[in-house]
Amino acid sequence: MGDVDMKVTLLRHTAGAEELLACAARVCYSARTIEEIAGTVDGEGDWVGRLARMGHLSPLEHAVFTFGVEGVSRSLLAQVTRHRIASFSVRSQRYVGETGKAHPDGVFAYVVPPSIQVLGPSYVAEFAAQMEKMQEWYDYWVEALGGGRATYEDARYVLPNAAATSLVMTMNARELRHFFRLRLCLRAQWEIRAMADKMLELARSAAPRLFAGAGPACVGGACPEGDMTCGRITGIRRRYGSGGGE
Ligand SMILES: Cc1cc2nc3c(=O)[nH]c(=O)nc-3n(C[C@H](O)[C@H](O)[C@H](O)COP(=O)(O)OP(=O)(O)OC[C@H]3O[C@@H](n4cnc5c(N)ncnc54)[C@H](O)[C@@H]3O)c2cc1C
Repeated sequence: MGDVDMKVTLLRHTAGAEELLACAARVCYSARTIEEIAGTVDGEGDWVGRLARMGHLSPLEHAVFTFGVEGVSRSLLAQVTRHRIASFSVRSQRYVGETGKAHPDGVFAYVVPPSIQVLGPSYVAEFAAQMEKMQEWYDYWVEALGGGRATYEDARYVLPNAAATSLVMTMNARELRHFFRLRLCLRAQWEIRAMADKMLELARSAAPRLFAGAGPACVGGACPEGDMTCGRITGIRRRYGSGGGE
């Protein structure tokens, strides 16, 4: 496999997410029956902004978004799985072997950081050679431990953070907005930021009102980073659009 690119897709999302949010919000403030309310809501209006100003964000939890993510590193996996409100299904390194024979290029799939790519082809080749060396170590341990599936769980200890993985991830809209707030900040690590950027684009195209004003914290208010601020708030706000926000 070798060097791979990130791929993010929106597999499923709650149908009529914006109407559902408006319905849930109206139920909180109306004496009418849910049937009556559901028959009249249209998802129009700035429900997200109004609820955010009140600090009443639980209606956003009724809409869920499921993403397919491929070509990301185990390093990213360690970070994204810190988000406890999300649900994950990750390709297993215990059940899916990474032997050289299992891959067309003779080496497991891995992610090359852009900082190494910009150094030029000779550095990328050195990185690739290091991955190939780790492939040799992995294959050595599969063999030494007796071969077969039972060996994968221990042979994988010599694989790097660069090793690529695939996952399916579900977040509700409240958690997603929180995730974007943390992970689209320029202080976040490049790979999870790149994934969050693709996720926001997909989420916005599916439910524009639900994700209006979503983005790093500075899109909806002051930069929370203090002395560590990137100092690029104007450009960031232009990139993600301001207004709304949590
Ligand atoms: C730039 C950056 C750098 C980081 N660096 C490090 C680091 O060096 N080391 C490190 O260990 N982590 C680091 N993290 C991870 C960070 O500490 C969080 O674990 C991660 O961002 C998940 O955030 P969360 O807990 O808000 O999200 P979620 O787990 O998705 O939770 C969402 C929200 O639910 C609430 N919540 C969830 N669970 C609980 C709970 N048990 N109790 C109370 N409230 C809860 C909180 O309000 C929380 O904000 C970093 C994150 C970022 C963005």
